Amino acid sequence: MTTSTPSTSWLDLPVDHPYGLATLPYGVFSLPHEDPRVGVRIGDFVLDASAVAAYGDPGDGPDLAKAWRTPSLNAFLDLGAPVWAIAREWLTEVLSNPVHRERTAPHLIPINNVDLHLPIVVADYVDFYASEHHATNVGSIFRPDSEALTPNWKHLPIGYHGRAGTVVVSGTDVVRPIGQRKPPTEPAPLFGPSMRLDIEAELGFVVGGATQLGTRVSVDDAGAHLFGVVPFNDWSARDIQAWEYVPLGPFLGKSFASSIGAWITPLAALEHAKTALPQQDPKPLDYLLGRDLYGLDIDIEVSLNGTVVSRPPYASMYWSPTQMLAHLTVNGASLRSGDLFASGTVSGPEDDQRGSLLELTWSGKEPLALPDGTTREFLEDGDTVTMTYTAAGQGDSRIALGEVTGTILPAVPID
Ligand code: MN
Repeated sequence: MTTSTPSTSWLDLPVDHPYGLATLPYGVFSLPHEDPRVGVRIGDFVLDASAVAAYGDPGDGPDLAKAWRTPSLNAFLDLGAPVWAIAREWLTEVLSNPVHRERTAPHLIPINNVDLHLPIVVADYVDFYASEHHATNVGSIFRPDSEALTPNWKHLPIGYHGRAGTVVVSGTDVVRPIGQRKPPTEPAPLFGPSMRLDIEAELGFVVGGATQLGTRVSVDDAGAHLFGVVPFNDWSARDIQAWEYVPLGPFLGKSFASSIGAWITPLAALEHAKTALPQQDPKPLDYLLGRDLYGLDIDIEVSLNGTVVSRPPYASMYWSPTQMLAHLTVNGASLRSGDLFASGTVSGPEDDQRGSLLELTWSGKEPLALPDGTTREFLEDGDTVTMTYTAAGQGDSRIALGEVTGTILPAVPID
């Protein structure tokens, strides 16, 4: 089957519209007094996907209308990569061929009229650490007397399993976490609200298609399970993290909330964004090699209370998403539709490309100055962080991957 993307639509969208036919991200929306269901973003509209699937025959059998009439993308993810391709081709046909105009137009809803929901029921969530610049910066800050990169870093994509149940959709407020922290000047741990609340600008990858326990997914088979990408902010309490993480890794400093965008952009929309990886030296073990290795030309813009504070480039990441998935399953761990893994903080080589406040302020030593005259070492109550993502499209165009935003609320008072 071949897929071509028509350059025009009966919607009269400009060819290079960031949410044009070349993008078509999926989300879950609802109208007042109606059940949430799957929608597809086109321009400033949400297409009620199950409605258009119901009147056509997209492909030869998969019941897209049924899968899309559910309050998450999981049923659709479970149908597998061949059906994802059929679905994208059908949506492109419906939105571009004028014969579909009359019956499709009533199912386009202005985006301002809908509520957007968490697009997937997150099955398992893993966070990687795939930026060499980020890992080097954090190593220099946390372990100034050791090599910045740990000895394993260039041999495997380091990761940990996070908390799937606290992944929230963009726009959800984040309550400042409470926990143990032990400043170096204190003889014993203190208990209270985190004083070093941070962000991590990351890219999330949404997985579809279950695998059997005891099997593994190779680099070259990973593409069949990589459905799409989503903006991702891994909120992090640095003081809680620093005290608890030895020797078992991140725990409560991370698990209070992780925010994802409302729109998942299919990998099929990112063909023009694929780039070569940085050279991997030393050469990784064979199970991390294959033909399907790539970086992604995705730019992130991080703003704090409306001021852009960083522009991390995803193209600088060391490991391919296919390598991350191969590593995640190499021990026989099975996949489930709705699995989510994130790249780790995206930090580029330049100072203004760092994806966390930990790095941007060098652990609070170099506070950020904001236009209102205030400074930030870490987040204050009331702060709003918004990360906006774009990817290379055809020619010089860029497609929009949406945003992930959240506002910090004060900690729940301690009795
Ligand atoms: Mn992270």
